[in-house]
Parts: sequence; C-alpha cells; structure tokens
Amino acid sequence: MKADYVIVGAGSAGCVLANRLTEDGRTRVVLIEAGGRDTHPLIHIPAGFMKLLDHPALTWGFHAEPDPGTAGRAILYPRGRVLGGSSSINGLIYVRGQPEDFDHWAQAGNRGWSFDDVLPYFKKSEHWEGEENAWRGKGGPLFTSRMTEIPALCRAAVDAGREIGLEYHEDVNALPLGGIGFCQQTRGGRRRASAARTYLKPAMRRQNLEVIVKALVTRILFDGKRAVGVEVRRGGKIERVDAESEVILAAGAIGSPHLLQLSGVGAPEHLRKIGVALRHPLPGVGQNLQDHYIARISYPVSGVATINEKSKGLSLLGEVLRYLFLGKGILTYSASLVAASVKVLPESATPDVQCAFAPGSFKEGQIGELDDFPGVTAGVWQMRPLSRGTVLAKSPDPTAAPAINPRYLSEETDRRAIAEGLKLLRRFFAAPSLARHVGAEILPGPKIKTDEEFVDYARRNGSTVYHASCTCRMGTDTLSVVDEELRVRGLTNLRVVDASVMPAVTSTNTNAPTIMIAEKGADMIGRAARSAAPRAKAA
Ligand SMILES: Cc1cc2nc3c(=O)[nH]c(=O)nc-3n(C[C@H](O)[C@H](O)[C@H](O)COP(=O)(O)OP(=O)(O)OC[C@H]3O[C@@H](n4cnc5c(N)ncnc54)[C@H](O)[C@@H]3O)c2cc1C
Repeated sequence: MKADYVIVGAGSAGCVLANRLTEDGRTRVVLIEAGGRDTHPLIHIPAGFMKLLDHPALTWGFHAEPDPGTAGRAILYPRGRVLGGSSSINGLIYVRGQPEDFDHWAQAGNRGWSFDDVLPYFKKSEHWEGEENAWRGKGGPLFTSRMTEIPALCRAAVDAGREIGLEYHEDVNALPLGGIGFCQQTRGGRRRASAARTYLKPAMRRQNLEVIVKALVTRILFDGKRAVGVEVRRGGKIERVDAESEVILAAGAIGSPHLLQLSGVGAPEHLRKIGVALRHPLPGVGQNLQDHYIARISYPVSGVATINEKSKGLSLLGEVLRYLFLGKGILTYSASLVAASVKVLPESATPDVQCAFAPGSFKEGQIGELDDFPGVTAGVWQMRPLSRGTVLAKSPDPTAAPAINPRYLSEETDRRAIAEGLKLLRRFFAAPSLARHVGAEILPGPKIKTDEEFVDYARRNGSTVYHASCTCRMGTDTLSVVDEELRVRGLTNLRVVDASVMPAVTSTNTNAPTIMIAEKGADMIGRAARSAAPRAKAA
C-alpha cells in the first residue's frame, strides 16, 4: 500500500491532518490508528467520559511510573486508543490557553507560533455557537458551545469567585483572560464533538483518504536518513505502507516519542540499553514530558442539587429523558463547569493556577466514582509547571508500554503553587455564596493546615489532568526534536504534528491547542508540497 502521506494516529491532530490534506481531492493519504472505530455510545454522550478513563478497548491502559511526586503511586495515565484518540475520551473542555503561552513559544525561537500567528488557526478550526468576532470563529469543523444549562451551584461558584476578588468573564476564550467564567465545550447538539466526528467523518467519504483501524505502527522505515514509510501490525500480519512524500507522526505525546525510539531515533545510550539499533541520534526524544497535576478539595452540600444524587435511581431516569428530548442536563456536562485563572505566586506576571469547579464530588477525590451524598469539588493545577519528566521505551517490543514518568512536583516552585492553590480553594469555599451551601471540608480535611501538609496531600491524592505534552519539543537547541515547521531534526520526509511538539505545555487544557497545531501543520505541509511541485517538474 502507498500514499503521498502516511499519518500515524487518528487522534485530535491526526484527524485534522487527514481532513485538511485530502481537501483537494487528489492528495492520497493513509491514516493508521491502533484502536478501533468510535462506535461505543459513551464516547458520544458528553458525561460518558467518566466511565471511559480505564476502558480496556478504548484506552492504552497506561500507568505512570511510581514516583515521589505521587507518593509512590503508579497513577492511571489515560490516552485514547480509538478513532478520535484522546478527543474521544476527554472531558470536553474547550479552552485555548493564555496568549503568553504562544508568545513564549515564539520567543524561544519558534518563528510563526506567537499568539497573533496562531489565533487564525484557532478561529479556522471552530464553529462557535455564539457570535463571530475578533476571537471566535464560525464555519470550522469543530463545534464549540456554551454549557447547555448553568446549575445553581455553579452560579454560586461564580458569585463566590467575585466575592474573593476575581473578575467574571462572559467568554473564557476571548481577551482579556483570567478571572472566573463558565466552561465551554467541544459539543455539537447533545453529542461530543471529537476530532473523529468533526474532522474525520466528513473526510472519510473522499476517495483519496484511506483509514486503517486496529493497526499498530511498529516502526518507521528509512532509506538512510529519509523516512519512506511505516511497518504496521494488523490482524497478526506485518504490512508495509509507503509514503511518497512524508510520514507524519500524530501518535500523541506518549506514542510519537515511543515510535521514534523504537525506530532508532533517540538518545544513543538509551537505545543501546534497550537493544534498538541507532538510526539517528536525537537526545531530546521522550525528554521534557510536561503535564498538569491536579489536587482537589471537596465538601458535602445541602439545599442545592448536585450531580451525585441526580445520577442515581429515578433522578437518573429523568436526566436520561431530559438528555434525549431536550439535549440538556447532567449527561451534557463536561469535566468541570466553572473555571478560574488566578495568580497565587508573587513572582508570576500572569495567572499561574487554574481552578476547575464541578457540582459533584468523587470518592477519595478521584474522578469516576461519585460520592453517595450531595457534594461539590474544585481542583487546582499549576499552569506552567517547571517539573520535567520522560517517556522512554522499555524494550524493542512495540506492544510493550513505555515508562512514563512526569516527575510531578519535583520542583520547589511547583510545590509552592499547589499549596497556594489549595489554600485559594479554601478561601473560595469560605466566600458567602458557597459557604451557605457547604458543610465541613471532606478533602483534604481541616487537619491539613501547613504548606508541607498541603503538598503531602497533593502527592497522596493528586492526579494527572491528562495534558501530556512536549516530548518531541519544537525548538532550536540540541534537545529539541522538531523545527518550527515540525520537521524532525536531521531526518527528511518526517514530521511530528501533535501535542508532543509543544515547546512548553499551554496553561490550560490541551485539546484546542493540539487541534490548532494540526491546522497550522497541515498548512505548512501543503505549502511545502506546492513549492516542491514546480521544482520536481523543472527537474
Ligand atoms: C481522559 C482525558 C481527558 C481530557 N480532558 C480534556 C479536556 O477536557 N479538554 C482538553 O482541552 N483536553 C483534554 N484532554 C487532553 C487532550 O484530549 C489531548 O491533549 C489531545 O487529545 C492530544 O491530541 P494528540 O493528537 O496529541 O493525541 P491523541 O488524541 O491521544 O491521539 C494519538 C492517537 O495515536 C494513536 N496511536 C498511538 N500510537 C500509535 C501507533 N504506534 N500506531 C497506531 N496508532 C497509534 C492513538 O491510539 C491515538 O488515537 C484530555 C485527555 C484525556 C486522556
């Protein structure tokens, strides 16, 4: 089998690329996905994500390495393994990040990635349900929407935010950012707007796109330093798919560095250790793993409805009917409904922690299992962590999971930020509009008072916010993996286009920025092909 472009991974980025690169009806693309089709109903019901985090068929089943940052726990590290990738199992929050995130990417030498440069791609990607304006786009594939309804407890949360001095913003994706506002979602109607539903499905009708599912790419094939295709394991057979123009890795922040390492591209010492022959030394592959780490605070609630009791018994039946007939209710909720960006460290120039509020609470503070009584949760994460981790293949076996170690809270600044963030959440719940509804704090509990105790609590109870990124970092130094055109350094016909190329993690959730990266990447690839065509003709 052969095509102009072979794309590895049909996740957030891969689906965008498959759509944009085949738009002309001529360019031949093969998109290869390890997981299956996105037919599971819980993918499409927004709140279904809570039941998919450890789904054996729809996720990779990864766990992070035990580490002091998580008090020795090997925490669950979900990644989607299905058409749509992580966009099919994520919490649906649509948020782009601070302009400074992208300006810092550009200041690090990545020309073309400042906020002004990337804003057109955010706008191009979306079909915002509100008015089109300087920040928001209409007519793009990705449905972006306001919440279907605002529960009373969420209104109280916004009021409480104002009472502790936060400014309310009507649109959390328009400038000025910061302060508090209601979350927006990747949702169209009552259904999740995954990258598969919005970008891939319409493109699958095109003759020039072939999508292969349940096919694990086991290595990249090279002719010298030129990528020429990939090797694929499908139904017990090994196949080869040739790329006449380029191989594009969109396997995500775990999959892309892992595949490069399996193909002999990485740190020579690491490859020698695991028994993979060196193809090309690139020591940054799998380094620089960044992620957000969340710690939560929770309270029992009285006098106002929460998801906990609405998701049980007859109430749940009522919610199912509201969902089916009105497209509203708890089944349309995302991971959080209210978000606040706040500055808690004196040295920060812009907000440095993100708070996420949900009108429900989870057993032991973990997403997935709701408490049996009415409750409320807020979580906090540091927006720009300094801790850096790794994704490293453990063996040459492509079916063996790599070692994922985010090394959360390994930097002093990160520990200060999480402690200050948890203290901020306590002040938030003590504000009159929330205090009137909540009882005595459940987690971390009133015994936790000092900064050390907050950090210790975060280590024992915190979890990933699922924002793995930066493991094939774009940059200009020797530890960068791709250049500003997302081409792998020192190799030809090979790009990485996914969350792994972020030079630093964006300050909020990572789906919208990943889709932006793929929109911009597709433009770059198209431009490169157009400029190569006349040269080829002349030759
Ligand atoms: C549980 C969860 C909740 C999240 N919640 C939110 C949220 O609410 N808002 C938000 O903005 N972000 C959220 N995120 C993060 C966001 O979804 C990701 O940052 C984004 O989807 C990453 O896109 P990607 O294209 O880089 O990788 P992915 O979407 O993970 O895609 C990678 C694809 O490559 C495939 N693949 C990997 N290796 C191979 C191989 N060797 N062969 C073939 N295929 C392969 C995978 O199966 C997968 O389909 C969440 C993520 C998770 C996991």
